[in-house]
Amino acid sequence: MKLRLDGFNGGGDVCRRLSFAFSGNRMPHAILLEGEQGSGTERLAALLAQAAVCLSHGNRPCGHCEGCVKAQAGSHPDIITVDGEKDPRAFPVDTIRRIRSEAYIRPNEAPCKVFVMLGVQNMSEVSQNALLKILEEPPENVIFILTAVSAAALLPTVRSRLQVFHVAGESLPADWSLAERLARSVLSPGGADLLFGLAELVKDRGTFRGVLKQLLLLFRDALVQRSGGKALISGREETVNMLSGGLTRRSLMRMVEETETARNALEQNANTALLSAVYCAGLRYSAGR
Ligand SMILES: [Zn+2]
Repeated sequence: MKLRLDGFNGGGDVCRRLSFAFSGNRMPHAILLEGEQGSGTERLAALLAQAAVCLSHGNRPCGHCEGCVKAQAGSHPDIITVDGEKDPRAFPVDTIRRIRSEAYIRPNEAPCKVFVMLGVQNMSEVSQNALLKILEEPPENVIFILTAVSAAALLPTVRSRLQVFHVAGESLPADWSLAERLARSVLSPGGADLLFGLAELVKDRGTFRGVLKQLLLLFRDALVQRSGGKALISGREETVNMLSGGLTRRSLMRMVEETETARNALEQNANTALLSAVYCAGLRYSAGR
């Protein structure tokens, strides 16, 4: 099959990687689309589900076969969607068990059955372990398409069974000044600069979210550079140089983790004042300050 993702701009090379994963006769058993709310992971999941049930022999999804029409109308019997984005408690272990038994029943009319699970960052460990059992022995002709704010929210065992695609989206703020100031203040001796800088984010969740995303890119870039890589995503060379020059690889790795944890907490409606204090302490600890 040849994947057609018209009009989808996932940032970076996600579309190319997906096309490769879905090319020929092979199809991945389970994929995770990682990206923050608004990055388009849900729309991409719907497009891929449609492609999986499309009956065309050419590019898929074709948009006009019976499979596509039903998928677009949300009435295809072989696409089962569970939305944890709208309801964080959408994945009780019973639901996962039901999905498991359904996965072993043959598809109704499409060549395969698709389970779309949106927002799995809210899934409990018990449910994740139940899901792991399906992913370890995936039934024939079944594909799982998951979305999450961050792959880090999943158990490593579950993550290892998924092909992860990062969707960068287009929602990165244009102004980097606050994020860069914060990133640099990690290197300064006292904790005051960092704490006061983070305090500016407490009132506005939207700004907080944007700045965390920028910080994640800065720390990731610095980590890449520290490890000898050259592909910088943020494009903020000066700050990245400062970070990679002043911090160890291990510190940077921890800072990436701290930032991902903070982003997940923010998506789960954590109190912003508390979050900024915890994040500040986490970054300073990671930096060995
Ligand atoms: Zn079609």
